[in-house]
Amino acid sequence: MRIAITFDACATNGQPNGFDRPVLRVLQREQVPATIFTSGRWVEFHPDAMALLTAEPLIEFANHSYDHPHMTRQSVGEIGAEIDRTEAALGRYGRRSVAFRPPFGDFDDRVLRVARDKQIPAVLWDVVSGDPSASATAEGMIRTVVRNTRAGSIVIFHINGRETQTASALPNIFRQLRARGFEFVHISTLLSSGVAAVNPELPVANLRGNAPNSPHESDVDGIMPPEQIDPVDLDARLDPPPPPPPESTPALPAKP
Ligand SMILES: [Zn+2]
Repeated sequence: MRIAITFDACATNGQPNGFDRPVLRVLQREQVPATIFTSGRWVEFHPDAMALLTAEPLIEFANHSYDHPHMTRQSVGEIGAEIDRTEAALGRYGRRSVAFRPPFGDFDDRVLRVARDKQIPAVLWDVVSGDPSASATAEGMIRTVVRNTRAGSIVIFHINGRETQTASALPNIFRQLRARGFEFVHISTLLSSGVAAVNPELPVANLRGNAPNSPHESDVDGIMPPEQIDPVDLDARLDPPPPPPPESTPALPAKP
């Protein structure tokens, strides 16, 4: 039963964020392949981290836009530029993306079309660790991820230094998932083998039958009110929950 462990490395123009090196150390010690969705700004701000990551065969890269906007608020040209600038940043390290994950899980038909035209499969996630939430605990993350992971799952964590419990939760998560028969693979492997539990072009809330949290406007730097912080929230401090799925979401994914 293959699953993909993924990390977002989010950065905006005004907020470069950091690099959670202990997370990389855990991946190396546990020999877990992982896919890191980088925003281009993060790549540019973290040459030392990029040197470490590009030297590590366990790591593959994916595209998380350039400066982490709501992609549905961008023009088609801007959507393309967001993707292209990050590809250029990764290209300076000799890398290219295997997938595209829109910030905040916010997408529409135009976003999907642009990504498809660039032959970069759009991918979300089906298991949220909730690691950027101020209320996240290692125990809660372990419980949530282990309970919700199934064959083909795509699990989302962060590695940009806003998460505080991820490195301490990961060893236990990896141990329990392995004990349950899961094998960790890159997301490119999951997509190419056609076993991803998440339709790359459908919002997860649709598939899991759980409605997304009520949409709320939040600045990138915004702190959610405590009552809105959900232990399994995607990214309470940087990535608000995805908006309700658009009615026109295509029913079938493009073959990666
Ligand atoms: Zn992000």
